[in-house]
Amino acid sequence: MNRTVVRTIPFFSYPALFARQREEILSTVERVLSAGKLILQEDLEQFEANLARYLGVKYAFGVGNGTDGLLIALMAAGVGRGDEVIMPSHTFIATGAAVHHAGATPVLADCRDDHLIDPTSVRAKVTKRTKVIVPVQLNGRTCEMDALQEIAEEHDLVVVEDAAQGLGSEYGGRKAGTFGRAAMFSFYPAKVLGCFGDGGGVVTNDDGVADRIKTLRNHGRMDDGDVSGWSFNSRLDNIQAALLDLKLKSFPEEVSRRRTLAALYHQHLKGIAGLRLPPDSRSDPRHFDVYQNYEVEADGRDDLREYLKVNGVHTILQWGGKAIHHFPALGFKVDLPVTERIIARSFLLPMNTSLSDDDIAYICYLINDFYRG
Ligand SMILES: *Cc1c(COP(=O)(O)O)cnc(C)c1O
Repeated sequence: MNRTVVRTIPFFSYPALFARQREEILSTVERVLSAGKLILQEDLEQFEANLARYLGVKYAFGVGNGTDGLLIALMAAGVGRGDEVIMPSHTFIATGAAVHHAGATPVLADCRDDHLIDPTSVRAKVTKRTKVIVPVQLNGRTCEMDALQEIAEEHDLVVVEDAAQGLGSEYGGRKAGTFGRAAMFSFYPAKVLGCFGDGGGVVTNDDGVADRIKTLRNHGRMDDGDVSGWSFNSRLDNIQAALLDLKLKSFPEEVSRRRTLAALYHQHLKGIAGLRLPPDSRSDPRHFDVYQNYEVEADGRDDLREYLKVNGVHTILQWGGKAIHHFPALGFKVDLPVTERIIARSFLLPMNTSLSDDDIAYICYLINDFYRG
């Protein structure tokens, strides 16, 4: 690596993403706008059918965003006032907000070294009010679902997945989003399958849950014109649905490229004692990871980030470097030692399909240089 070649590597480049598919994107938007079919039309139905087929589920519904999607999934699964919902604290605030707005109480569990929810911690948090477990399929990896499902079966709990970051990832040959009574995906622009605005999906195999999801996202309005109860408006618009359908066609290649980038990071960084890397894609055959994020733990994290920054490489702290129980306004008092360690030590290296192999080599060169001192 020629150290004198200075690069600027943004954490994420939306313009690059657009530029790569410019013609197809513009012609898709042109087609939808010319047809004038904007809300709850064919393009949405087609994307929903293709998403359901990709996942191997019976039903998929487009919604306004992932957060609404989780709220709708929880409501459709029967969560309500007085229920406790066990979820990780190491997640986006949206996971907890959806639980809260469903009327239930979020109960925060610890995570494991792979940064995903720890089934042992979940088990310790079960009370007689517990109704649901919300595993968060974080960083493009699916939780250890057999352990969680065992707990759910033992205590008669429902599983609803926050798979906002998990589309395409698998555990034991099954895709994220297919384990729970219902599951949510986010199509926020920086997600593995991103649209060009806000968007989300809710999936299920259950006929009754599917009916409720469809009704809840559209003012509680049922097919016969009656209303099932108070609801809200959270629909995926047809332009975004058409663009998502376009991107879904090349999604397996996107995933494969992310896995190649992760393997490159692993190869260049695995020898550094001060770093803890995400699990390598070959380390556990039960997991198939899609690397939504590449979240590393690092000795001297803040200095390393600064060193990368002055050399043109932009990194971020996921959620600004706070777990849910770190927000004083929310009033949580919990002891989550692994989460504390992860929050204190981790950050996100650039991980997206606009990166070249050379970009990864440059980033890794800098990191090796930093630890050599
Ligand atoms: C992105 C994300 C959400 C929320 O999705 P939006 O589409 O932005 O509402 C929820 N949970 C997790 C883990 C996320 O990463």
